[in-house]
Amino acid sequence: MNYTQQIRKLATKKNAVILAHNYQPPEIQDAADITGDSLELARLATEVKESTLVICGVYFMAETAKILSPDKTVLIPRPDAGCPLANQLTPEMVRAAKVAHPGSPFVVYVNSNAATKAECDVACTSANAATIAASYPEKTILFGPDANLAGWVQRQLPDKTIIPIPADGGCPTHRNFTLRDVEIARREYPNVTIIGHPECSADVQLACDLIGSTGFMIRSCGEAKEWIILTEKGIAHPLQKRYPDTVFHVMDTAVCPNMKLIELSDLYVTLRDGVYPVQVAAPIAVKARIAIERMIGAAK
Ligand code: SF4
Repeated sequence: MNYTQQIRKLATKKNAVILAHNYQPPEIQDAADITGDSLELARLATEVKESTLVICGVYFMAETAKILSPDKTVLIPRPDAGCPLANQLTPEMVRAAKVAHPGSPFVVYVNSNAATKAECDVACTSANAATIAASYPEKTILFGPDANLAGWVQRQLPDKTIIPIPADGGCPTHRNFTLRDVEIARREYPNVTIIGHPECSADVQLACDLIGSTGFMIRSCGEAKEWIILTEKGIAHPLQKRYPDTVFHVMDTAVCPNMKLIELSDLYVTLRDGVYPVQVAAPIAVKARIAIERMIGAAK
């Protein structure tokens, strides 16, 4: 039996479900039971009956699953798979922003650590950030840690003032895309539709035809026959599986090293040995859960 067959056998034996983010390596996505964007994974993790959740993604995703399912065993094959964006917003920064802007709700991107979420009013993903910000009556909304996503929300909600905390937070992978990349791509592929992630810079977003989460990309890409996809290149795998006759161009340099850490051998060891369990301290989990459940409630 190859690794994938052994993984599937072990998952059944251990009553485990494997959830993989759209940026994971193709072989990890293919070994998983469920694939999706952050919001889809967070929501679906609460609906499965298995007693163990194996999260193939970065650490904040495993924390989110544990917070929502405290009675289940949550495992991550590589606990060192962090998210540099998540580390750019600390609980202290949230508290300071709230002191500076009393009464303004703090909307925190799900790409943040549990201790940070615990200080915030509500979490969001790129799929529902604008909807959640719009649901608050206050004019000023604090938003972090991704300043590009904050800018995208601002453009959707011109009557509000979205304050990014920190002012320059961002994902290193999505920051790699430049306006020049988009201009060159348009010249090279004149009939292409360009879809970008809201973590891309503002000038890149404004040069795209469509902007949205990876889940939105997967739902949208049936509408044209040739696409340029401005997000982590792992997205090419689910897109090509769903639309085999469509041409997708991704950038080879658009790689999140943290999303590529998990290998099939790690996943196999996780299921065999029950490593590595994720724990979130109760006082943090209780507060962070409120923010995360509001995010999921807004998606229903
Ligand atoms: S792609 Fe960016 S936001 Fe996503 S896990 Fe990697 S560093 Fe974090």
